[in-house]
Amino acid sequence: MPGAGEFEIIARYFAPLSRGAPLAFGLTDDAAMLLPRKGRGLVMTADAIVAGVHFLPDDPPDLIARKLLRVNLSDLAAKGATPRGYLLTAAFPQDVAPGWIAAFARGLRTDQKRFGIVLLGGDTVATPGPASFSVTMIGEVPGRRMLRRSGARAGDLVCVSGTIGDGGFGLAELGHAHEGLAAAQRRFLIDRYRLPRPRTTLGPLLRNVAGAALDVSDGLVQDLGHIARQSGTRLTIEAGAVPLSPAGRAIVRADPSALGRALTAGDDYEIAFTVTKARLGALKATAHRAGVPVSVIGRVERGAGVRVLGAGGEVIEAGPGGFDHFAR
Ligand code: ADP
Ligand code: MG
Repeated sequence: MPGAGEFEIIARYFAPLSRGAPLAFGLTDDAAMLLPRKGRGLVMTADAIVAGVHFLPDDPPDLIARKLLRVNLSDLAAKGATPRGYLLTAAFPQDVAPGWIAAFARGLRTDQKRFGIVLLGGDTVATPGPASFSVTMIGEVPGRRMLRRSGARAGDLVCVSGTIGDGGFGLAELGHAHEGLAAAQRRFLIDRYRLPRPRTTLGPLLRNVAGAALDVSDGLVQDLGHIARQSGTRLTIEAGAVPLSPAGRAIVRADPSALGRALTAGDDYEIAFTVTKARLGALKATAHRAGVPVSVIGRVERGAGVRVLGAGGEVIEAGPGGFDHFAR
């Protein structure tokens, strides 16, 4: 970004967002510090979004900013971590309007407050290409107790928070309207796509009950495949047990093949995890405490991969699964 522009952007729009972090020094130094609390391990994750890929250039800037924070918060939640702060690398098109940056910063502020995080630092550049943003989110767990993808064992139950498919249906809804949906259901789905609800209250509580856990963002079946692989197990899922929202159920009722899309589309930002049968009672209490519904959707078995079973116990092909940036 040419000369003063960059420093003015940092001072005007980003420095105020670091106010709750004295060791970010008002973004006036080369770097910030973060003191881990005693006995805590830091958990770090990064996610980038690019105009034309993850958002549309004319999407509302505050929603882009909030989604950017939330997709990262979702990763931390799935690891059982409590978020503390983040670094932001912003590449703005050369001709970005100050009002756009201001609205983007407002979105950051809104969700900083909601989720109790602060801006610690980052980088600001101009790009001849589309806008892109990367957030590195930092959280904490006691000791080394980050939830891993590798903790599933044969005999465990497979669970998922919230509902599956809404983000994918919301994205589809932006292209073409699903038949027979009420206007409120349309709004609900599009809102789920634009503004994920990371399970930040549930995540840390899962440390005491879950074996394996991961963030469901690229499609349930594909993401469960990561748990299967890292744990050296097979996951068998009952399609009928996968929780759908009322809007999702209406879509599947009108078009049963939409269930496959729910199981493989991305943008859920729920937590999939495993528990031993003995801990199912404790899990129910945990879900209640977090105020987040949790459903048992299948079981962990010996073997490899993910199987999806239909109502009659038959194996169903969930369809080409999941989102992969490099797939062609
Ligand atoms: P340098 O050129 O030495 O890397 P910068 O001028 O890029 O330093 O950054 C100065 C300070 O502003 C640093 O503390 C950096 O972390 C912070 N900063 C720069 N851009 C951002 C941003 N987009 N969000 C948050 N902090 C930023
Ligand atoms: Mg820099």
